[in-house]
Amino acid sequence: MVYLHIPFCKSFCTYCAFYSELLSPGLVRRYERAVMAEMQAREPEIRRTLTTPTLYIGGGTPSVLSPIVLQRLTDALAGITGGRYGEFTVEVNPDDVTPAYAAFLKGLGVSRVSMGIQSFDRHTLSWMARRRGGWGSPLLISPEHPRPPPWGGRRKALPPELPRGR
Ligand code: SF4
Repeated sequence: MVYLHIPFCKSFCTYCAFYSELLSPGLVRRYERAVMAEMQAREPEIRRTLTTPTLYIGGGTPSVLSPIVLQRLTDALAGITGGRYGEFTVEVNPDDVTPAYAAFLKGLGVSRVSMGIQSFDRHTLSWMARRRGGWGSPLLISPEHPRPPPWGGRRKALPPELPRGR
């Protein structure tokens, strides 16, 4: 498995111990250059690792990166791996997932998303300083839970063409 860590968040949750920096364009540019250089330097190791072809992009919050940056990183990796993965996962924050973003992930070849919801209770989300926006833009949640969340946001079912998690 190849794991790519995206060390950026738009804000920090109180409970979190993962390494992350506040999202800023300058840091993202430096990070991208560093990851590209590391990919080149570790190309033989990456090839060996792919006996089980799994790509996992975690963080941080990968979904705060602009699609073009994520595209460049995965294209560079595909130059080494061939880009054919048995499983390709990206972690996302529900606030970032619009229909357009979901379509972008699908086009990228993502077969699985890991969506950090943590809680549907706004008070719980508040004490953990969890970014939640208005829950108006996300595609959430599932056809089995059609009721709106208690603070009045809207939930929607995932489009049927999107791959389902396990
Ligand atoms: S968004 Fe995720 S990675 Fe960022 S601080 Fe919160 S839990 Fe940690």
